[in-house]
Amino acid sequence: MKVSLLAYTQNADAICAAAGKSCYSERSSQDLLGDGNPEKVLGKIVGMGHHSVIEHASFTFSVEGVSRSLTHQLVRHRVASFSQQSQRYVPLNEPTFVVPHTVEEDEECMRIYRETMDTVWKAYNKLAEKIPPEDARYVLPNGCTTNITITMNARELLHFFRLRCCNRAQWEIREMADEMLRLCKQVSPTIFAKAGPPCVSEGRCPEGKLSCGKPRKF
Ligand SMILES: Cc1cc2nc3c(=O)[nH]c(=O)nc-3n(C[C@H](O)[C@H](O)[C@H](O)COP(=O)(O)OP(=O)(O)OC[C@H]3O[C@@H](n4cnc5c(N)ncnc54)[C@H](O)[C@@H]3O)c2cc1C
Repeated sequence: MKVSLLAYTQNADAICAAAGKSCYSERSSQDLLGDGNPEKVLGKIVGMGHHSVIEHASFTFSVEGVSRSLTHQLVRHRVASFSQQSQRYVPLNEPTFVVPHTVEEDEECMRIYRETMDTVWKAYNKLAEKIPPEDARYVLPNGCTTNITITMNARELLHFFRLRCCNRAQWEIREMADEMLRLCKQVSPTIFAKAGPPCVSEGRCPEGKLSCGKPRKF
């Protein structure tokens, strides 16, 4: 898996803070840019539930070599934009798939996994000689690799990190979300200061008996 931050709102912390302040001022956000401490301003405004202020910051990621199983979960996040590699237009003649750690760690599972992928791709290539890739792809597995471009605003990202950086999220999407959070913190430390699952952002876990009992650290 490779996650890259392709583009982001420059100076996002200050822009969102100025936008927030402008709601309560005669001055414009242009005038207020750099005025006051963004951490204090955003802490107060966003803390009050005025979350739309951080929608002014946008982040675009390129994600390579993840499974279709991951992207199926990812695209459930509706307040985001996605562009995914097409299985209709991109031929997938070579076997490319993600191997879960549990499979990798067990010799027999690994053998079964490889044999299955081999069979699947042989079938795909045979079918693709006769029928269009859009139909041949029906035999491809969830583990098949794909590339996807994601754009989310900071509000949606905080929500996404809350759900997907949690230990109870599926491991592959969690690994991707962790890396996205690391990249966001580098460029926008104030907005993402407390980002993460509830054990990080709120200091408590809402999962009750299902809690993993292992608060995360970022
Ligand atoms: C650990 C885990 C397990 C899961 N297991 C399953 C499963 O077994 N089966 C399954 O189907 N899904 C499952 N999901 C997916 C989950 O149900 C959500 O579809 C997914 O997490 C996207 O969340 P969301 O709808 O809050 O986010 P987004 O779509 O990104 O939306 C963000 C927020 O915008 C608001 N919003 C967006 N659209 C609407 C709308 N139409 N109406 C009202 N408000 C809206 C809501 O406040 C929402 O929280 C799982 C998710 C997690 C994290």
